[in-house]
Amino acid sequence: MRPFTSVIPLAEARRRLEAGVRPIARTETLPLAETAGRVAAADVTSPIAVPPFDRAVMDGYALVAADTRDAGPDRPVTLRIIERLHAGSVPTRRVEPGTCAEIATGAPLPDGADAVVMVEQTRRAADGSMAAGQSAAARDGNAGDAVAILTPAEAGQHTGRRGADLAPGDPVIRHGDMLTPARLGALAAVGQPAVIVYAKPRVAVLSTGSEVAEPGRPLEGGQIYDVNRFTLGAIVAAHGGVPDPRGPVSDDLQALMDAFDACTGADLVVFSGGSSVGERDLVVDLVAARQGEMVFHGIAMKPGMPTAFARLGHLPLLGMPGNPTSCLSNAYVLLVPFLRATARLPPYVARIVRAPLGRRVRSPLGRHQFYTVRLRDGVAVPAFKGSGEITSLSEADGYFEIPPDLAVVEEGESIAVTLF
Ligand code: AMP
Ligand code: MG
Repeated sequence: MRPFTSVIPLAEARRRLEAGVRPIARTETLPLAETAGRVAAADVTSPIAVPPFDRAVMDGYALVAADTRDAGPDRPVTLRIIERLHAGSVPTRRVEPGTCAEIATGAPLPDGADAVVMVEQTRRAADGSMAAGQSAAARDGNAGDAVAILTPAEAGQHTGRRGADLAPGDPVIRHGDMLTPARLGALAAVGQPAVIVYAKPRVAVLSTGSEVAEPGRPLEGGQIYDVNRFTLGAIVAAHGGVPDPRGPVSDDLQALMDAFDACTGADLVVFSGGSSVGERDLVVDLVAARQGEMVFHGIAMKPGMPTAFARLGHLPLLGMPGNPTSCLSNAYVLLVPFLRATARLPPYVARIVRAPLGRRVRSPLGRHQFYTVRLRDGVAVPAFKGSGEITSLSEADGYFEIPPDLAVVEEGESIAVTLF
């Protein structure tokens, strides 16, 4: 056994991890539809005005507002309809005083018109020439068509001005913006078919341990199935990375170095197992053999004490404990913030709910504990069995934190549960 060189507080580990982030520099150009959740690698300014033309924002009649100054329900102003404009049509005639154009939402406002009166505030002329059901073609340009306007219009009402949303040259997205559905919408509105985004960090996931076996075949003596490759891979994918899971590596330094060397193109390598202080815990040896820098090895927390963070040249390396609960808990606490910062994503904000603790819980003094709980009828029922048991997590809804200076949390105490 070799002791940890130094066990540091969780806050210090977080600080060193944060200081060790190198935000991804690689970029790629992707079709707009594939960029949701990605991070913009360049500003985009609008090449056009949005909307590209003045338009109606209500169904009704485009007219000259001054014509309707004296209009009222009992004093209708009758206007001659000179044209019918659908969304997508192009006006061909100017609206002069005394005339109007029937207009649909989204249709260009004809020259001369400065307002739209909603169809609900009009009445069609009594001669029946505009009876419902009459085809648009039959009505277009029919000099007999007229409409009674029952309310005064203000200049500009129910119209959208060219460029009101975005003027040419306006910023649409900025470098570093995460592409939300709304930002995709803004890019679509200016006609961008593709976007330059940052590449997702590639994360090699290496399960170490001679006992660790592939799923899908029967276990041999002393073997267990690989759990961590799957939990780590899932969490990497959920937080902006591309997992590159590798087959289990036996506890042999040469095998580990070979597996590590095969991780070409990785932006981060995450080991599980072999990060502790047993004779066969080889992550430390790998870092030493490759003249890497061990940034820390050992955190005063539970679970997750045997955690290593190192740098081999530019390549960061996280050594997670092999115990499945420790490994996944660490992934939430340490890997997620590091990965998201590397991916240039905003920090993950977990949902937190308060609940009374269902049973007294003890915690080792001097270690920051993450304790899993299940929420049942508004009560936080302890779910933690042990660091080696994945059901400590799979049967839990979240965890609460017990600081290093607290030895006991009493039943009934209100705790803050961070939900998974
Ligand atoms: P280690 O951190 O290598 O000392 O492993 C601690 C415990 O976790 C041992 O019981 C291992 O068998 C177990 N373990 C290590 N790696 C994995 C894995 N990938 N999946 C499930 N259990 C593992
Ligand atoms: Mg091991």
